[in-house]
Amino acid sequence: MELFGTNGVRGIANEFITPELAVNIAKSLGTYMGSKGTVAIGCDSRISGQMLKSAAIAGALATGLDVIDVGVAPTPSIQYYVREYADAGIVITASHNPREYNGIKLIAGDGTEFPRDGEREIEKIYFSGKFSTVSWDKTGNFRADPSVNDYYLKNIIRAVDAEAIRNRKFKVVVDTGCGAGSLTLPFLLRKLGCEVLTLGAQPDGTFPWRNPEPLPETLTELSDLVIKTGADFGAAHDGDADRIVFTDENGEFVNEEVLLAMMTKYMLEYEKGPVVTPVSSSQRMADVAKEKGVELHWTAVGSINVARKMMEVNAVFGGEGNGGLIFPKHQYCRDGAMACAKILEILARGKKLSDLTKNVTVYFNAKTKTPSRDIAGTMERVRHKTSSLGLKTDTIDGVKIWYDDGWVLIRPSGTEPIFRIFAEAKKQERAEELMNKGLEMVLNAEKA
Ligand code: MG
Repeated sequence: MELFGTNGVRGIANEFITPELAVNIAKSLGTYMGSKGTVAIGCDSRISGQMLKSAAIAGALATGLDVIDVGVAPTPSIQYYVREYADAGIVITASHNPREYNGIKLIAGDGTEFPRDGEREIEKIYFSGKFSTVSWDKTGNFRADPSVNDYYLKNIIRAVDAEAIRNRKFKVVVDTGCGAGSLTLPFLLRKLGCEVLTLGAQPDGTFPWRNPEPLPETLTELSDLVIKTGADFGAAHDGDADRIVFTDENGEFVNEEVLLAMMTKYMLEYEKGPVVTPVSSSQRMADVAKEKGVELHWTAVGSINVARKMMEVNAVFGGEGNGGLIFPKHQYCRDGAMACAKILEILARGKKLSDLTKNVTVYFNAKTKTPSRDIAGTMERVRHKTSSLGLKTDTIDGVKIWYDDGWVLIRPSGTEPIFRIFAEAKKQERAEELMNKGLEMVLNAEKA
């Protein structure tokens, strides 16, 4: 049985994600770690966060791990802390999922997301129910450390040209969506000399302001306020602030694929080296890599795959087309606040955000999904068909078929019995044509 999906364990709080589950996952982690070491445990702003965090703390202590309770903090803030001060981390978060959800995510000692094989080991222990519970005198030590977010922000500021940013006295509107980033982003910007206007910047697990997913249609107030106040840009986090999205000075939403390509371009101006992104990302990344003469590595979807590949190839930069950007000199995980600080650094050189987005090639996308009776069989038949047709493909995750003027990706969903089909081309019509080609391949393979 599998417990961990692409992003840890997720589900409805107190139904699937219960205190009992949190206790036993923490006990499994303690067993896996041989009842030795320190684990930092924190949560995002969800209502069930304290309940689940307390349970995870109890489970870890029961197996003899020492625990540092880091309180409410963004996932990248906890990851940064783990790398410096702990041997592992447990983050209670459901990221961008709706308010009723919560989840449990494990962090490795180097601050990266827990490796897949480690998760499989922990699952085995969990389902065996055999935990290394220690005797009364060996239960772990407990302390709280409320400095996690200060420490994180201090290190972000150190990683950018803070003086250049402060000299510009930017005006920024932030919408942290009542998530964990409410405790970091506004403070980071103030420390960087910005005038900050906030929306939804009180941590509140009822998410009264908007859903934790920062979609363009939920950010209309952010756009309006940017325009009305003449701000330099707007920024919005998801619930655990590992992702960030932007609106430019005209209140226009910056497509996340454009953001990724734009940031890649900037990072490559300072240092040449490989860049990494999942197969689902836009051709824009390939264009930038080609223009800069560096190697681009495509990975399977999932930020952990991107981060691991980046470590392997010593990448200069990497990220996903959903506002998840990874700055390896800072840390090997998606980091929303770090991305915002980098945007300020770029703008400090005198450009406007809208100028930067114009420098990226325009592409059009189309996507659809279709149910499947037999994911593995259909995938196999699609792969066979594409290779028999001699098409140029990449099978690192599903099948991506490259054409001269675009691509289509056929990928099984990680959570539902469906195929997702994404296409991209330089014209909208062509993107739809490629999407339909992909759909037809799946439908034919389903019939076979
Ligand atoms: Mg997230």
